Amino acid sequence: MSVLVLVEHTEGDIKKKSFEAVQYAAEIAKADGSGVAALVLGALSEDAISALGEYGAQKVLQVSDARLNDLHARAYTTAILTAAQKEGSKVIIMMHDVNGRAVAPRVAVKLNAGLVSGALSLPDKAKGFTIKKAVFSGKAFAYVNVTSDVKVITLMPNTFQLSKADGKATIEQLQVSFGPKDFGVTVKEVNKVKGEVLLAEAELVVSGGRGLKGPENWGLIEDLAKELGAATACSRPVADAHWRPHHEHVGQTGGTIRPNLYIAVGISGAIQHLAGVNGSKTIVVINKDPEAPFFKAGNYGVVGDALEILPRLTAAVKKF
Ligand code: FAD
Repeated sequence: MSVLVLVEHTEGDIKKKSFEAVQYAAEIAKADGSGVAALVLGALSEDAISALGEYGAQKVLQVSDARLNDLHARAYTTAILTAAQKEGSKVIIMMHDVNGRAVAPRVAVKLNAGLVSGALSLPDKAKGFTIKKAVFSGKAFAYVNVTSDVKVITLMPNTFQLSKADGKATIEQLQVSFGPKDFGVTVKEVNKVKGEVLLAEAELVVSGGRGLKGPENWGLIEDLAKELGAATACSRPVADAHWRPHHEHVGQTGGTIRPNLYIAVGISGAIQHLAGVNGSKTIVVINKDPEAPFFKAGNYGVVGDALEILPRLTAAVKKF
């Protein structure tokens, strides 16, 4: 019996958040005395796959069908069900992202399993199988006890610190019989954002709001981000005004991120914005209004004009 984990990869590399999922699964398996089987869908080299062993996977099941390099929710579901049956898995883990959110509910329905979406903790076995998760856009936490025989969990990215250990996983090819409707969507073109740190996985994020006054000042955000090796993000009105692309918009209606450091520049701190960023480990707020609500959510604050502070901050970072 194994805890089963769906692994995501892009451009030949496993995504960092999938290592987090494997490590999380390993903790659950340790408590159960079981093992971890990682499921890799699509074409991926043995070299890339072997890293999964260092985070606690004993076994990797690979379905080497190149069509699975792109998300096909039905085909992913079929593959996961096949792997879960083979492994006798009672716990199935995915990341809480586009893929996990599309696939986990389908898997849960098929297996009559309880689903915890956006888990923030390991299951507390002393209280059954109780997991902490955020609700009401991060304003509160719920502790849900999963009582079904099979359990499906999507894990919030950046919830646990990664730590490598010695470990080796065996790799097995898994044969899956896909149904005629499993590949109902054809991906014709993928436009990738190049040369930037991926926002969803970034440890450091510099984010701007309407306080930046206009797109002509965005170089100040980009300069600081570049010096820090950070991703850039923005508030919704900034994306709505086309100062920045929509994939950078974070909040209730945008992305949810949990970086180690979130620097909010010229952003008021409306609850809809905080919903997407209040899981950040450290928040630094730069705002000219000392009454801006963001200061209440921040760990550190600078009151002043962002257009003056940003160049000075970037110059200071350059010195290190
Ligand atoms: P503003 O509210 O205009 O704030 C600008 C801030 O910049 C102010 O605090 C000001 O003091 C400061 N400032 C101005 N000049 C300077 C300067 N020179 N230097 C430093 N600081 C300066 N918003 C999101 O961000 N994400 C969402 O997902 C989202 N979803 C929403 C969903 C719904 C249903 C609704 C109703 C709203 C949503 N919003 C969302 C909008 C949200 O309510 C706020 O309106 C928005 O976050 C405000 O963006 P802002 O802070 O950039 O702009």
